[in-house]
Amino acid sequence: MIFTDTHTHIYSEEFSNDRDAMFQRAFDAGVQRLFVPSIDSGTTQIMYDLEAQYPDNVFLMMGLHPTYVKENYLEELAHVEAQLASHKFYAVGEIGIDLFWDKTRLKEQQHAFKHQIQLAKKYNLPINIHCRDAFDETFEVLESEKADNLYGIFHCFTGDYEQAQKAIGYNMKLGIGGVSTFKNGKIDQFLHDIDLQHIVLETDAPYLAPVPYRGKRNESAYIPLIAQKLADIYGVTIQEIANVTTANSKSVYGI
Ligand SMILES: [Zn+2]
Repeated sequence: MIFTDTHTHIYSEEFSNDRDAMFQRAFDAGVQRLFVPSIDSGTTQIMYDLEAQYPDNVFLMMGLHPTYVKENYLEELAHVEAQLASHKFYAVGEIGIDLFWDKTRLKEQQHAFKHQIQLAKKYNLPINIHCRDAFDETFEVLESEKADNLYGIFHCFTGDYEQAQKAIGYNMKLGIGGVSTFKNGKIDQFLHDIDLQHIVLETDAPYLAPVPYRGKRNESAYIPLIAQKLADIYGVTIQEIANVTTANSKSVYGI
């Protein structure tokens, strides 16, 4: 079985004491494809280092995360642009709008999101969307940038059925992670009505660990726990979940 973690922060400081062991646990669990979103320019070098160390397993994205849109965000966007021009990436991400922590920079977040979508189109890359407490604002930008070559993944999808349909309508797959295993996660209540062809797996490690590790550090080796939850929801084998979601990830990332 080959699993794909479509969104994992392997460079996180939380792994600095056991990163190689963390990789090994993922490989042992069949999680051999790790797609890694960027946060800001501070994470670029360690991403390149980890890609060089695990060239068959680590696939990088480039982007400025919405909660890192600060006073210097134009410089950060220039950094994103320079990396995209000089290094191979598999998506622009993670990008989007987050109004959970800070609503004061909505305008800058909208601008950064729009600009990075345009970069994705320019390089024919998918996008990896981070959306928290901002579905309307996110859909507004997607609508304004709608195009045949705008596609990607709605990472850590936590919306309702209607929002799921809307996201799919914008050529987005839904990134399903640990929240699907939470008692109050809600996503498990309608997921069976969403065709499996629209679903990819992700951990968002080190955050949002699935049950029974909820509240602890998350890691890519826990992907099979999420896959098992989906197998239960869809009434198929975990092998089928692995096959379909890995195929879906290939159709988005092109590898
Ligand atoms: Zn993330």
